[in-house]
Amino acid sequence: MNSHNGSSVLTPSETTPARVPFTRLDNADPELLAELLEVVADVAANAAFTLGEAVEAFEREFAAWCNSAHAVGVSSGTAALELALRGLGIGPGDEVIVPTNSFIATAEAVSATGATPVLVDVDEQTALLTAAIAEQAFTPRTRCVIPVHLYGRTVEMGPLLELCAKRGIFVVEDACQAHGARYRDRPVGSLGDAGCFSFYPTKNLGAWGDGGAVVTNDSNLAAQVRLLRSHGEATRHNHELPARTDRLDALQAAILRVKLERLDDANERRRNAGALLSAALDQGNVTVPAAAAADGDHVFHLFVVRSPARDRLREHLDANGISNAIHYPTPIHLQPAYAGLGMKQGSLPNAERLAVESCSLPIFPTIEEREIERIATAVAGFVAA
Ligand SMILES: *Cc1c(COP(=O)(O)O)cnc(C)c1O
Repeated sequence: MNSHNGSSVLTPSETTPARVPFTRLDNADPELLAELLEVVADVAANAAFTLGEAVEAFEREFAAWCNSAHAVGVSSGTAALELALRGLGIGPGDEVIVPTNSFIATAEAVSATGATPVLVDVDEQTALLTAAIAEQAFTPRTRCVIPVHLYGRTVEMGPLLELCAKRGIFVVEDACQAHGARYRDRPVGSLGDAGCFSFYPTKNLGAWGDGGAVVTNDSNLAAQVRLLRSHGEATRHNHELPARTDRLDALQAAILRVKLERLDDANERRRNAGALLSAALDQGNVTVPAAAAADGDHVFHLFVVRSPARDRLREHLDANGISNAIHYPTPIHLQPAYAGLGMKQGSLPNAERLAVESCSLPIFPTIEEREIERIATAVAGFVAA
C-alpha cells in the first residue's frame, strides 16, 4: 500500500475533517507503542509465555494498586467473574442477582457456574443497581449480588454491602469498566468479597488481546481462583480439582505492567474529558450523565447521553463525523440467550427505557479539546422534536 502514497490528489483530511473516533488505542501513541514492543520482545526472548515472572509481578502491582491483598490474573473479565463465583462455592441451585443493564458477560458468568442469574432493574438516573432494587429480588436461594460499576461510574456500595453482610450474601463487584474508580476513597474491586476486571483492549486498562483479574482480601478465595484458572494444579502434576485453562498470558501481563503505570493519569484525563463534555453538551438537546455522587466517582469508560429521539441523534452524529455506539441496545433479560428466564418486555422498565434512549459518545484519555468542540457543535445542531 505504501507505493500508492501520493497518488491521490486530495487526501481525505483535505476534503472533510476525519471522523472523531469512538476510542483511540495504543497504536496511536508511538512512544507508548515502542515501549510496549520492547517488553513484548523481552518476554519472547525469554520464551516464558505462561504464568511466571511477568504475571506474578503484574499481580503484585495490580493488587497494590487496587488496595487488595491478592490479584489473580485470568484469561478474561468473564473468566474473572466465573472463577470468583465458583471460588466462593456458588453453583447449581443458587441465585445471583445481576443488573440487566450490563454487558451480557455478567449474566453468562453466573450461568457458567450452574447458578441462576436473577436479572433486576437499575436506577434510571445512574443506570446502576441499588441496594433497594437488589433487596426486592432476595429469596432464600440468593447467594450473591454482582454490582456492575457500569460506564466507569461507582455503584452506591455502602448500603449494598451493609444489606448483604446482614443476610450472609456475597458481593462480587464487576469492575470491568471502572478500573481505578473510587468509592469512599477506596478503589472499586476492593469493596466486596471479590472484584473482577477485564483487560479487553478498549477497557480503561487494556491489553493486546484478552485478559482479566480477580482481586480479593480473602486468601482462601485467591488460592481457589489460582487452582481454577490452571487445571486445579496445586503443585506440579498434583491436580486438586477438575478445572480449565484460564490463565493470563505473560505477554499481556508485561504490557499491562507498562500501562498500569499510566492508568491514574489516563483516568484523570477521562474524568476531565467527561467534565468538559458534560459542560459543553448541557444545552438541553440531550441529557448528559448525572454527576458522580459525593462519595463516588466516574472514570468515564463510556460517556453515555440520553435522548428520546436517540436513533435520529445517531444519524445526525454519523452525518457530522462523530462516532457513536449504544451500550446496550438490548437489556440482558430480553436477549434470546436468556429467553428461558421467561421475562417479557415491560418487566424491567428503567433498563428498557435506557436501552432505547442511550447513546455513547467518543471519550478516551487523549481526546483533544477541538474534538470535544466538534462533538458539542454536532449535538447543538441536533433538533430532537
Ligand atoms: C468487558 C466486560 C465484561 C467481560 O470482560 P471480557 O474480558 O470481555 O470477558 C464483563 N462485564 C462488563 C461490565 C464488561 O464491560
